Amino acid sequence: MIGKEDLLSYIEKEKQEIFNRGEEFFQCAELGFCEVHTSKKITDLLDEWGVSYLKDVALTGVVATIGKKEGYHIAVVADIDALPRKSGTGRIHSCGHSIQTTMALSVLKALLDSNVLEQTDCRVSFFFTPAEEFIDFEYRDRLIDQGKLEFRSGKQNMIALGCFDDVDCALSAHANGDVDTKFDIGSTLAGFMAKKAVFVGKAAHSGAAPHLGRNTLHGATLAMNGISFIKDQFDPVKGLRLNPVLTECGGSVNVIPDCTVLETYVRANDNETLLEACERVDACLEHCAMALGLQCVILNSAGYLPLKQSSQVNKIIKENMLRFCRAEEVIENPVSGASGDVGDLSFLIPTVQFGFSGITGRFHDDNFEVSDKENCYIVAAKVMLGTIYDMIQDKGNRVYSKNFMEKKEEYLNLLRKND
Ligand SMILES: [Zn+2]
Ligand SMILES: [Zn+2]
Repeated sequence: MIGKEDLLSYIEKEKQEIFNRGEEFFQCAELGFCEVHTSKKITDLLDEWGVSYLKDVALTGVVATIGKKEGYHIAVVADIDALPRKSGTGRIHSCGHSIQTTMALSVLKALLDSNVLEQTDCRVSFFFTPAEEFIDFEYRDRLIDQGKLEFRSGKQNMIALGCFDDVDCALSAHANGDVDTKFDIGSTLAGFMAKKAVFVGKAAHSGAAPHLGRNTLHGATLAMNGISFIKDQFDPVKGLRLNPVLTECGGSVNVIPDCTVLETYVRANDNETLLEACERVDACLEHCAMALGLQCVILNSAGYLPLKQSSQVNKIIKENMLRFCRAEEVIENPVSGASGDVGDLSFLIPTVQFGFSGITGRFHDDNFEVSDKENCYIVAAKVMLGTIYDMIQDKGNRVYSKNFMEKKEEYLNLLRKND
């Protein structure tokens, strides 16, 4: 079998093409479930390289598998969507998903040209997944109403469609905002659920007969207090975040408000905390309403699950990082308040998402820029490729998902219940 150095040299050889491709994908910024040009660029390359693929998966996703028809199955997962520009016009890859797309294609090309999978019992599937950013609900909900999608995110739909059913482990990478290091490993991503509580009461003249009304703002205020006390009951490491806002309240100053809407995200670093906190918040909302003779209707929208990383795969990734940088240039287990639908995947299969630096400007802002092209496009791709090499050539490095179908059913039930 080809040596690891030789395999990694395939990335080095293509360096200029990779930089050009990175720039091209960076300029091709499209919002979730609108990534038609991005998708076309991906399939044009796959056609050129003679790789078969499935396209239009969850509307704009692409899945390409190379290697053996059966055997150990690694997924390389890359987001392809962008964000609206803050300035209000146009779109920009301000989360760096174009880098992930470029990296996945570089890894695919190296595996293909080196023919390394032919000497193993393995296959690697490349998932170019749409709509990771949890935005643009009006458009996505319309697609759901039209029956074109079931859920609001790319991976959620791809999971429901069965795309990951026979995958053994999932590898991904995401740009990070760190400037002093090269990589991060084992990062958390919070899970979240969006809650909307509608308090319904009775209007009345606030001067002449307030006692005839049922004041919904009182109910919401009471619940706000209760919710802030809930936060105190969870260990800070669980990452519980509750920051309710009132999105509708009152009306005229002389009328007792008969409708108040409170909205909050419930965020947490692990699933149990997320579900427990959701129950506690629901109880607080319902009982505060009841105490004041109000109704409370709670509407839930499923967000993303917390990311739980495979520590076994992360060990391999770290060894691969240390080929290119010093130990102090790798941050381990940082806590991130951000969320991603890779968290959903990690509920079902052993999953990792390592971080790479090389960005200037702010994430989700118009000044986002890829400044260290070498680290983003070349070194990070080599870390991914090296990790795949270690898994295909040594069975001891392989991890497998357990009870996938049971977990998938539980997962889809959870999503469907809260949608
Ligand atoms: Zn983002
Ligand atoms: Zn992102």
